Amino acid sequence: MTTSAEIIQPKIVHALAIEPLSIERQQIVIQQTHVYIERAKQLFKIKAASMDIVFNLKGRAAGMYRVKQQLFSQSREIRYNTYIFSKHFDDNLKTTVPHEVAHYVSDIIYGLKNIKPHGREWKKIMFAFDADAAVTANYDLSGIPTKKLRTFIYQCACGDRQLSAIRHNKIKKRRYQYYCRTCKQTLLYKNNDAI
Ligand SMILES: [Zn+2]
Ligand SMILES: [Zn+2]
Repeated sequence: MTTSAEIIQPKIVHALAIEPLSIERQQIVIQQTHVYIERAKQLFKIKAASMDIVFNLKGRAAGMYRVKQQLFSQSREIRYNTYIFSKHFDDNLKTTVPHEVAHYVSDIIYGLKNIKPHGREWKKIMFAFDADAAVTANYDLSGIPTKKLRTFIYQCACGDRQLSAIRHNKIKKRRYQYYCRTCKQTLLYKNNDAI
């Protein structure tokens, strides 16, 4: 059996992490979404179909509109990325909100199957909204969790430590040991797989 040791520095994992959007600001986004829906009702004489507004989009996109097909019905939803909104709030309020509402409106008027996502029908709605129809935004995404990496909780005398899957596997498969730099204890795996 070989034992390798490596000293790790306890690090503050989320020092630069962006906080998700506050409830107050989520309310502003929801209100603004309804402002554009009301505007669309007047501009295009549409009957608004019910739609959910949720803040569960992850990754690099700021927003997404989708229709979920159920057996006998459809449900529509706009999903917003709570981290990207948090980091670039005003800009997303001006661009992402009308962008997604325009998808919703084009779906009601034409049906998503019958048009291109950012085609002339969608562009016409964006123009009527007086919103920027550029499709890609170059947001600085530093601090935004774009990929969720699994971490494993270990313990030393100082408390809990998060180890990456890479380190965890070295311990499990290659019998590495890691020591806490502060208390010098071996980090022990706190088995929380059941959670
Ligand atoms: Zn789009
Ligand atoms: Zn320690």
